[in-house]
Amino acid sequence: MEIAIIAHDDKKAEMMGFIQSNSKQLQREGIDLIATGTTGKLMEELGFKVRRMLSGPLGGDAQIAGRVAEGKTKMVLFFKDPLGKHPHEPDINMLLRVCDVHNVPLATNEASAQLLLDAISKRS
Ligand code: PGA
Repeated sequence: MEIAIIAHDDKKAEMMGFIQSNSKQLQREGIDLIATGTTGKLMEELGFKVRRMLSGPLGGDAQIAGRVAEGKTKMVLFFKDPLGKHPHEPDINMLLRVCDVHNVPLATNEASAQLLLDAISKRS
């Protein structure tokens, strides 16, 4: 199952804490992690195996949206900064929309991301 991890700059520290506390679940067999560029780089520094896309502002969110549309990415954990303005807002909105179009679970904050991960760990 491919899971996409994305965090805006003000949310990166929170995301790294989250993936560390869920590292067992995220690194188990059958889970493939992908991430936007900078988020993925930070994940690699923590020892996670992750396939990195472009950085968000350079098209990384759009790449992930494409993978959702193609049926490759099955879950998106996206810690969005609700307070900042982002140059790639259209790409972010596209990703959220494509998740809805394809009924792909999407969490935009830590509490919902935890619920999604807990749900898939109970299933297997
Ligand atoms: P980044 O992209 O991981 O490359 O910072 C995230 C984003 O801003 O969408």
